[in-house]
Amino acid sequence: AIPLVVAVSTSIAAKSGLLIRDRQAFERARNLQAIIFDKTGTLTEGRFGVTDVVSLSGEGNGTGKDGRDDEKILSLVASLEASSEHPIAAGILESAREKGLQTQSVEEFSSIPGKGVQGLIGGKKFLVVSPGYLEENGIALKNDKVEEIESQGKTVVFLLEEKRVLGAVALADIIRKESREAISKLKSMGIKCLMLTGDNRYVAAWVSKELELDDYFAEVLPHEKAEKVREVQAEYITGMVGDGVNDAPALAQADVGIAIGAGTDVAIETADIVLVKNDPRDVVDIIRLSRKTYSKMY
Ligand code: ADP
Ligand code: MG
Repeated sequence: AIPLVVAVSTSIAAKSGLLIRDRQAFERARNLQAIIFDKTGTLTEGRFGVTDVVSLSGEGNGTGKDGRDDEKILSLVASLEASSEHPIAAGILESAREKGLQTQSVEEFSSIPGKGVQGLIGGKKFLVVSPGYLEENGIALKNDKVEEIESQGKTVVFLLEEKRVLGAVALADIIRKESREAISKLKSMGIKCLMLTGDNRYVAAWVSKELELDDYFAEVLPHEKAEKVREVQAEYITGMVGDGVNDAPALAQADVGIAIGAGTDVAIETADIVLVKNDPRDVVDIIRLSRKTYSKMY
């Protein structure tokens, strides 16, 4: 039987939008020592806007001054992203639509998890990929404009035709204002706040600095996320907060897996607790409620 105090707490929680799906995890929440947050869509809004388009196809990778070049790049990138469900894709499609750009049909589309997308346009292979993908494949890129954009903490993706870099698109996301309060409260409760992201190290460093996080892991591939949680668990009782398909294994691995309510079905089904209001500050409430509930019992 469920002790009355627990049943009462669970129902109080549900009324304030904290859906407890696993009662044992709710009990463990009072002992959490570290919480790992996913970045995109969890600490940030996950709504990307395109801020820059850089043409890199000119001989010697010069910056194209021709606006038509930029449009061509954005329209190719949008064509490839049309079949992707990543928040980056949504931002790119929105921007292409605003500019009234046409997209082309893509054959043999596939996504490269945590790295980008690829497909054929007019029989030629194009890719839209992360800086990490370029590094791994030994594709050198040295461009002042791209470096400047990266140092601003933006998310940058590259358009490639086969192994040739044609251009770059930079996107910016917004840190949720609730994240600041959530992090500062958790830290004042003695809980370490960490971040895990597949995004580039510059973006990660920027968000981490803005939110005064204790530490972060950047450029983590989807299949490595659960492993990172395990590493942190070696030292701390660890919670994980996320929203994406990629976050599900990490949520399952954590001592307490918490999903953002607006997240993907997979994340929600895997989580022990769901934050229906999509508010990271509710993590604080869950821990407080768990502490209160179980201190009454023991
Ligand atoms: P996150 O931690 O932000 O959820 P992901 O693992 O989903 O990270 O993605 C990591 C990186 O892979 C992105 O920052 C981006 O560079 C690249 N990427 C993933 N999906 C796409 C896509 N559809 N288009 C372009 N780049 C992508
Ligand atoms: Mg996310």
